[in-house]
Amino acid sequence: FRSKLPRVGTTIFTKMSRLAEEHQAINLAQGFPEFDCAPELQKLVGKYIARGKNQYAPMAGVMALREAIAKKVFAATAKEYHPETEITITSGATEALYVALSTVVHPGDEVIVFEPAYDSYVPCIELNGGIPVFVTLHPQYEGIDWQDVRSKISPRTKAVIINTPHNPTGNVWKLSDLHQLADIAGQHDLMVISDEVYEHIIFDGREHISAASIPALAERTFLCGSFGKTFHTTGWKLGYCLAPKELTAEFRKIHQFLVFSVVTPIQFAIAEYLENPEHYLTLSAFYQRKRDLFVHAIQDIGFGLRPSEGSFFQNVSYENLTGENDRELAERLTIEAGVASIPVSVFYDQITNYQTLRFCFAKNDDTLLRAAELLSKVV
Ligand code: PMP
Ligand code: GLN
Repeated sequence: FRSKLPRVGTTIFTKMSRLAEEHQAINLAQGFPEFDCAPELQKLVGKYIARGKNQYAPMAGVMALREAIAKKVFAATAKEYHPETEITITSGATEALYVALSTVVHPGDEVIVFEPAYDSYVPCIELNGGIPVFVTLHPQYEGIDWQDVRSKISPRTKAVIINTPHNPTGNVWKLSDLHQLADIAGQHDLMVISDEVYEHIIFDGREHISAASIPALAERTFLCGSFGKTFHTTGWKLGYCLAPKELTAEFRKIHQFLVFSVVTPIQFAIAEYLENPEHYLTLSAFYQRKRDLFVHAIQDIGFGLRPSEGSFFQNVSYENLTGENDRELAERLTIEAGVASIPVSVFYDQITNYQTLRFCFAKNDDTLLRAAELLSKVV
């Protein structure tokens, strides 16, 4: 038997969550909230189940939800996406990313990937016969070297995948970055896959700049989003993809044979919940307080860190504390300190030790304080 993904094993998230459970460690590894979603949202799901919204949704998604997304995106970006032809509801951003990449990548095509990169991108490219070409950034990088990006473009480059706010670094793209990308993509006729799942978790007054807000990018972009992060519902696996009509038509050809359609009552519930923008516009303040609490609690340990600009992750470097490899340290801290994290080197292709750990701060305050205390005793 010949594996299609010979270099892939179990994901680091499964591995670290399992290790955390085995050692009853606090799990700051896998990114998911410790707290529940709003009772109002839970009630809405119950309401639509009781109303019999329990059979297949339309292939492209429940129209009320597509309309609610169009309205929300228009308010933020002034870009109009047509619910009928340009919005597709997916099984999480994971499915949206897979289908978008599958839509554009033919065997031999190259896709520019900024690393560290979320772990699903490269397998999605490789399963479709594509070749990832890496632009390598330090885990606590301050800016992108666009000359380096240009140097990676070849006649075979087909697409670029971007992610802002970024997992795992917590970095946020500036308007100038998006303009640089628009120039390069226009010049070389590249498709863009924009992973914006942390769009509503952004700090210190920064604004999320969506690829949708720049017309020269929007016309060539598959924008992938998720409600998992925004509403504390990672287990519902509800996401979406926005793309121009012709691209959406191709996207849906694949979506319809991968899942056909996704969970019906939850689509109705989220459509109704989206009517009140406060339900998502308050999220940044909620997480900024948690970031500050966590950064403050670990400040005396001696980690090197820049406060996260967005997402619910904080990266820390530890090269002045220990020479250990980050994979070994993440395991040792899970076992000895009782705190699980993610070694950032797993998000790189070749680099096996960047001496950086990623902590998820989507946890209750007392959990974050306890984790900091446990870490301070062992690191
Ligand atoms: N992209 C990034 C950057 C993520 O962090 C995640 C979830 N952890 C996803 C995509 C997948 O989102 P979903 O859970 O909606 O499939
Ligand atoms: N996106 C989450 C993270 O980065 C995990 C998602 C998963 O477990 N696949 O931690």
